[in-house]
Amino acid sequence: MKIIMLGAPGAGKGTQAAKIAAHYDIPHISTGDIFRANIKQGTELGKKAKAYMDAGALVPDELVVDLVVDRIGQDDCAKGYILDGFPRTIPQAESLTEALMAKNEAIDCAIDVEVPDENIINRMSGRRYCPGCGATYHIVSIPPKKEGICDNCGAELILRDDDKAETVKKRLEVYHDQTQPLIEYYQGQGKLRAVDGTKPMEEVFEAILHALGE
Ligand code: AMP
Repeated sequence: MKIIMLGAPGAGKGTQAAKIAAHYDIPHISTGDIFRANIKQGTELGKKAKAYMDAGALVPDELVVDLVVDRIGQDDCAKGYILDGFPRTIPQAESLTEALMAKNEAIDCAIDVEVPDENIINRMSGRRYCPGCGATYHIVSIPPKKEGICDNCGAELILRDDDKAETVKKRLEVYHDQTQPLIEYYQGQGKLRAVDGTKPMEEVFEAILHALGE
């Protein structure tokens, strides 16, 4: 099963992607997480990506595409994978389609998690991120057991720079401008399945499983 998660930043696609990955026992590949790991490790890629991310802009396509194509070619992806945060532009989607076509493969399904902008702004200011293990929480809908502390690794949770209000506005603009056209792109391929992302997390998950034919 090769799945793409679409949706605005803060639509909950990361949380759903993690649940789907666990359900099908396939890797959850988040380009945002890959960049954050590179920033933490101080790699060249991390240094290049950080300035774009902090400004709420997209990292240039050429820094993302090879990274993902390489990642999905690894052994653990043989059974499938779920892409979270990629593709984010039409050129990225076209590169992915071509790279898969060269191996006689294709994406099975693109899930669009639909949430209006006003809900997104409220949600993102409540998001908390674990710099230790990458887990994400929300102070209202997915609180950690102990306030401000990661359930998995005990690190102190933070509000990511790119989740701050002014950056969120910029990211939504970028989303509408550059990522939303992908909805039409995958619709045109007959692969798009939309779910209502304003529903409670478990209901969204059930809707996604249903959309995937379960
Ligand atoms: P995310 O965690 O998916 O919200 O990603 C955080 C940030 O990483 C984004 O705002 C972008 O700056 C960058 N990023 C992640 N994935 C991509 C991508 N496919 N193309 C360009 N930039 C990306």
